Amino acid sequence: MRIAVVGSGYVGLVAGACFAELGHEVIVVDNDAAKVAALKSGETPIHEKFLPELLARHGGRSLSFTEDLAEAVRQSVAIFIAVGTPPTDDGEADLSYVESVARSIASCIDSYKVVVEKSTVPVYTSDWIRKIMLLNGAPAELFDVASNPEFLREGTAVTDFLYPDRIVLGADTERCAEVLRTAYAPLVSGEYYKCVNAVPRPDNSRSLPQLIRTSAKSAELIKHASNAFLAMKISFINAVASICESVGADVQQVCEGIGSDSRIGPRFLSPGVGYGGSCFPKDLTAFRAVARDCGYEFRLLDEVIRINESQRLRFLRKVRKALWTLKGKRLAVLGLAFKGGTDDIRESPAVSILTSLLREGCEIVTYDPAAMDRAAEVLNGSVTYAKSAYEAANRADALLILTDWEEFSALDLDRVHAALRYPIVIDGRNLYDPEQMADHGLIYYSVGRPDVAPRTRVQRPTLNAA
Ligand code: NAD
Repeated sequence: MRIAVVGSGYVGLVAGACFAELGHEVIVVDNDAAKVAALKSGETPIHEKFLPELLARHGGRSLSFTEDLAEAVRQSVAIFIAVGTPPTDDGEADLSYVESVARSIASCIDSYKVVVEKSTVPVYTSDWIRKIMLLNGAPAELFDVASNPEFLREGTAVTDFLYPDRIVLGADTERCAEVLRTAYAPLVSGEYYKCVNAVPRPDNSRSLPQLIRTSAKSAELIKHASNAFLAMKISFINAVASICESVGADVQQVCEGIGSDSRIGPRFLSPGVGYGGSCFPKDLTAFRAVARDCGYEFRLLDEVIRINESQRLRFLRKVRKALWTLKGKRLAVLGLAFKGGTDDIRESPAVSILTSLLREGCEIVTYDPAAMDRAAEVLNGSVTYAKSAYEAANRADALLILTDWEEFSALDLDRVHAALRYPIVIDGRNLYDPEQMADHGLIYYSVGRPDVAPRTRVQRPTLNAA
C-alpha cells in the first residue's frame, strides 16, 4: 500500500519506518528542509532503539523523504498526519499545524484518500479537518477522515509500534476502515511476526494486537483518556509516596501490595520526580480544556497536574535536607532526558530541577547517555557536561539521579563512592535498594522510602574516579 506520513518527528519517523518494515511504500514529508536533507543522507535525527536499523534497511528503497507534500499526497492512498500539537498559552492544543496540512492536502487531492489523524488531537478534530478540506475545494467523495491514535512511548517506540497492545481505528465509513485495516494487516494477522528479520519481540507483549474499530470521535477520546489515566496513576502513587515519607513506610512495598491486584496492575506505579515529556503535560491540559468546552469541569485532572508539579518541589526540598545550603555546592546530575531511552528533553523534570538548582547557585556537572546535545541548546553553557556518570561524580558534594536510564541503575557503587567528595546520593527515580546503598557506605535519599545512612565504611578503591 502507498502511504504518506506528514511530520518526521518522534511519531512520524517511527511510523514511516515501521510501515515500510511492514511492506508498504512510504513517503515521509516534513517542511523542515534540514531534517529532510539529514534523513535523505542516511542520518537518524533522534535517539530511538532499532530506528537506525530500519532506516538503513528501507531508506532509499520503500521509504523516502521529501518536502513536497503535494507529490506525496498524489502518490498515496492513506495520509497520516503526525505533526506537532503543542499547547497554547491557555493549555489548549494548538491545531494550526494540523489545519495547515489539511488545507494543503485539499488543494492537491485527485483521487480517493484517507486522511488519518496520527497526532494527538482533541475530540471534534476529525470534523474540523473535514470542514477545512471541503472549504478548500476537496470534493466530498474523494476523501474520508479517520483517527488512528498513536500509543508508542519514546525509548521503546519501534517495538511499541510493531508489537502494540491494541490498534484503534476510528473510522466513520467502511471504505476508510478497510484502508486502515490493510495498513496494519501484517500485525493483526501475525504475518510480520513470522519474518526472520522481524524486530525482536519485547517481553510481555501480546501475541497478536487487538484491533478496536470505533467512531472517529471515540478514537480521539481514547487517546486523551488513556494519557490522562496513566498520568493519574503516576500522580496517585506519588501522593501515596508522600504519605509513606511522613509515616516511615516504604512506597515500593506499597506498590508491590497494590500492583499485584490484577484490577490495578504494577505498571506506571512509579514514584519519582513526576511525569514529563512532550505528551502527558500537554495532553492533560488539552483534555481538561476539551472537557470544559463540553461543559464538564474535570477537576480530577487539576489535582493530577498539581501533584505532579509538587513532586519537583519535594525533590528540591530533599536536596536541601541532604546538603543544607545549596549556594556553591557542586552537584553531579545524572539524566537530562524526560525518561530513559530517549534524547527528548521536552518538559523534562530533570531539566526543570537542574534549572532550579542553578538558580540556587549550585555548580552542575551533568551526564546523560543521549540527551546532552539537545540539553546544551537550552542550557546555554551554564553547566558542565561529563563523559560518564563517574566523571560527573568526581569531587561532587552529592550525586542526583533524575532520569531512569538503565545505565544509571547499574553503577559501580564503590567507584561512585570513591569519586564523590561526600558519599551522598539523592535518587529521584528509586533506582536502588536503600539497603544496598547503605552497604556501600552511601547516604541515600529516595522517594517514598526511609533515608538510609552508611552501614559500613567501604574502603575507597584507588582507581581513577573518572
Ligand atoms: P515532533 O515535534 O517530534 O515532530 C513533528 C514534526 O512535524 C516536525 O519534524 C515538524 O517539522 C513537522 N511539521 C510541522 N508542520 C509541518 C507541516 N506543515 N508539514 C510537514 N511537516 C510538518 O512531534 P512528535 O513528538 O512526533 O509528536 C507528533 C504528534 O504525535 C503530537 O500530536 C504528539 O502529541 C503525538 N504523539 C507523540 C508521542 C511521543 O511520544 N512523542 C506519542 C504519541 C503521540
